[in-house]
Amino acid sequence: MLTRTRIRELLDSHDLSPSRALGQNFLCDPAMVDKIVRTAGVGEGTSVVEIGPGLGSLTLGLCRAGARVTAIEVDKYLIPPLREVTAEFLDNGQLTIVNADVMELDWDPVLATSQQWSVVANLPYNIATPLILDLLAEQPTLTQWVVMVQREAGERLVADSGSRTYGIPSVLLAFWAEARLAGSVPAEVFLPRPNVESVLVKIVRRPDSAMACEFDELAPLVRRAFGQRRKMLRRSLSATPAGAFEAASIEPTARPEELSLEDWVRLAGAVVSRTDDPQ
Ligand code: SAM
Repeated sequence: MLTRTRIRELLDSHDLSPSRALGQNFLCDPAMVDKIVRTAGVGEGTSVVEIGPGLGSLTLGLCRAGARVTAIEVDKYLIPPLREVTAEFLDNGQLTIVNADVMELDWDPVLATSQQWSVVANLPYNIATPLILDLLAEQPTLTQWVVMVQREAGERLVADSGSRTYGIPSVLLAFWAEARLAGSVPAEVFLPRPNVESVLVKIVRRPDSAMACEFDELAPLVRRAFGQRRKMLRRSLSATPAGAFEAASIEPTARPEELSLEDWVRLAGAVVSRTDDPQ
């Protein structure tokens, strides 16, 4: 496992310093790596996508647990030390390293070897929320996730209606999956120490996202309403067809944070049916 001393050695011997722009805070606490691997329920033969393996702290934990890991790292300068650290698992075929930007990756060939993937990652904080929401919407074989994110982002992802942190990410994630916080991560487990607090988020995709509306019908409505969070829905969604609030049993005077996922789904369904058939 990679300790603080070993990470410093690796950075020095490859003449590297962590990039702030790429969110490079490396895990240097083997106990935290164990906790993440256990929380993810990764074992022999689990197919895992790791986003941003860095120097391989988590990659080693995942491979040692028996997972088959595809690790996607954007920083070409980290690839040589990553290959050095994980040589045993590259040699035995358990690990594949892809040097690419996850925001621009063609995922289909990467995910073609399994029908069910776990995502396990200490995510670069600046892309965590859009990445999670995009992949949930676009890659149905990513079924289980344990990701480390900035505390505020994690709290928004798992929030329920009525809470201060409930917003666009909470509703959009809930459309696809159930999510919960799975522990706090102190800044001391990273090198360098980040200035923000981190949490683990566990996300489990619903087996069948058979909602009474399509995601593309719900998402614009949610974005519009939360875009004017303090306004009543009858104002923020003033273009809503007549009768839609009533048909969905939603008070037009409600504010967006009061609506549960089920409410949003009903409202989106009512909007669509009235748009298709204004009678
Ligand atoms: N997993 C390692 C660990 O826990 O020690 C490193 C985690 S570090 C927080 C985030 C990693 O994501 C860095 O290695 C960084 O270079 C990589 N990264 C940042 N943006 C990326 C992107 N768009 N695509 C792929 N990797 C990215």
